[in-house]
Amino acid sequence: MSLDISEHLTAIETAINAGGNIWENELLSDLKSKVKEYYREKLNEQCCYCRKNTHGEFKMVLDIEHILPKSKFRHFMFHTYNLSVSCKRCNMNIKREDFSFCKRY
Ligand SMILES: [Zn+2]
Repeated sequence: MSLDISEHLTAIETAINAGGNIWENELLSDLKSKVKEYYREKLNEQCCYCRKNTHGEFKMVLDIEHILPKSKFRHFMFHTYNLSVSCKRCNMNIKREDFSFCKRY
C-alpha cells in the first residue's frame, strides 16, 4: 500500500495560496494525520534516523519529518518521498535544519 494524498490536493493548493506558515495551515490536519499514520505503520513505530522503537511510549513521540527541511526546500514540502517520521530527539536536537548528509552523494 502506498501513500495516496490525491484527495488532499485541493487543501494543499489552498494552503500554499494562503501563504505564511503553509505546513501549519489547519486545512492540512487530515493530510498530516494520514501521513503520520502511514509512516508510523510503515516504519513499525521506529524513528527514520536512529531507529528508536517507540512501541509502548506516548503516541506523540514520533512526528512527521521532512527529510529535506521544509524551510529550505519548500517545493518538496508535499512530496511523499521527502516525508517520514522521526523522534523529537533526532528532529529537534540533532538534525534541526541540517541536510549535509545529502552532500556525500
Ligand atoms: Zn530518532
